[in-house]
Amino acid sequence: SVKQRLLVVANRLPVSAVRRGEESWSLEISAGGLVSALLGVKEFEARWIGWAGVNVPDEIGRRALAKALAEKRCIPVFLDEEIVHQYYNGYCNNILWPLFHYLGLPQEDRLATTRSFQSQFDAYKRANQMFADVVNEHYEEGDVVWCHDYHLMFLPKCLKEYNSKMKVGWFLHTPFPSSEIHRTLPSRSELLRSVLAADLVGFHTYDYARHFVSACTRILGFEGTPEGVEDQGKLTRVAAFPIGIDSDRFTRAVELPQVQSHIKDLKERFAGRKVCIALIIFTYFTYYLHSAYHYALELSYDDDLTAAFTRSHPPLLVGTALTAVMLGVDRLDMIKGIPQKILAFEKFLEENPTWRDKVVLLQIAVPTRTDVSEYQKLTSQVHEIVGRINGRFGTLTAVPIHHLDRSLDFHALCALYAVTDVAIVTSLRDGMNLVSYEFVACQEEKKGVLILSEFAGAAQSLGAGALLVNPWNVTEVANSIGYALNMPADEREKRHRHNFAHVTTHTAQDWAETFVSELNDTIVEAQLRT
Ligand code: UDP
Repeated sequence: SVKQRLLVVANRLPVSAVRRGEESWSLEISAGGLVSALLGVKEFEARWIGWAGVNVPDEIGRRALAKALAEKRCIPVFLDEEIVHQYYNGYCNNILWPLFHYLGLPQEDRLATTRSFQSQFDAYKRANQMFADVVNEHYEEGDVVWCHDYHLMFLPKCLKEYNSKMKVGWFLHTPFPSSEIHRTLPSRSELLRSVLAADLVGFHTYDYARHFVSACTRILGFEGTPEGVEDQGKLTRVAAFPIGIDSDRFTRAVELPQVQSHIKDLKERFAGRKVCIALIIFTYFTYYLHSAYHYALELSYDDDLTAAFTRSHPPLLVGTALTAVMLGVDRLDMIKGIPQKILAFEKFLEENPTWRDKVVLLQIAVPTRTDVSEYQKLTSQVHEIVGRINGRFGTLTAVPIHHLDRSLDFHALCALYAVTDVAIVTSLRDGMNLVSYEFVACQEEKKGVLILSEFAGAAQSLGAGALLVNPWNVTEVANSIGYALNMPADEREKRHRHNFAHVTTHTAQDWAETFVSELNDTIVEAQLRT
């Protein structure tokens, strides 16, 4: 049978394009979550529509890029620099992103914000119309059109204006905030109405879906039903579709020889601390022999010295001379709560001196939106805190926090996930948080502990296996770090089993299939009603 065509519309195409000559482009597919999700879906024939991330002013370059992309089943939308600035940097990243994560609207200069707001919103609508034009041009009857994320909230309405029979779904990858937050947005009603033009509207969690329905009932005065939102007999179906990861990709990666050798390498490096402790044991043992020798010769035996020595090296007595690796992996974004995480780690070190030379926090902070001043401020704030804590608790040979402003390649990331004892996610708000899923998928051997913010969507699905925390409560996070580091093996095993079962059965492929078949069903039901 002929497969149904699926047009996936997202702001960015899953490729990076570099121009090599007037008519030549080199393309690299970036294997993000959405790409692997849709590669795994066998019953649809997927095509991508989106911006390639480059400004192409000339017709020759555009035609060449479109041709190169077509081989990867990608169709470009061309946006010029001015519209990218206003629509993408402005309205999407400076207004919608912070608002949807409860950070409020920008307010440094209220008047300037109000003025630029209208022009940014106009650019947003224009950009969405440009996406709609490209979709409309490539649409064939029977296709399913799946619009993604806060960049394209205007798209469902534009598409239905072209063709009311188009099957249109929209999915939001961020949280949808409480209606009390959404109310503050000057374009609150227009955005809701255009999303409601879709047949199916999806969110990661039930809470986000409920917030959206409340916003529609309170702000637009529409009716909320168990199925979704109704306006004069027209129903828009609203539901939760928690995304997952391609878990096989991670479990397989951990077994690869190059990842295994990476793991071995990391273990040896981190075991450096153990070597130090081995040296202490050797010194202690030598000292003991030496005392015994003195004792045998009935020479003076310094009890006080032994006591002082064992006091200063308590691990020798309790036998827990282990180094633990804690890991954080985040884009360096306000919503990730990186300062809160590091301050909680500091409190833990402060209160647990015996752990100071035995635990290290490795924080991978992937640079993001580096041309925006708030993000630059966050970077220096984090650097300052890390520097202060390392100055306070570091020794001549080791520091407690390793902070890296960079990204890692897939295999290096998997190796890190695999050697980690405790992963810590302290997002202040986060649509889902896939890092927590990826960590679990790589932990079949270690069965490490996940500390997870209750404000990440993932808390709804991994809550029973993870230690849930309120990232604003530094005391609670510090105590959870202690609890995680000391957790007995049987409890770790039990918690890991729970999370691993979830991550491997609720995959990205299932998510995509469920959304699209729900969209098809919704349309059949709507036809039956009329
Ligand atoms: N990631 C990556 N390289 C890195 C660190 C992270 O590709 O060096 C990926 C990671 O594997 C994950 C994604 O970035 O798939 C982050 O997704 P998440 O949902 O946790 O947060 P987001 O960045 O989308 O807010």
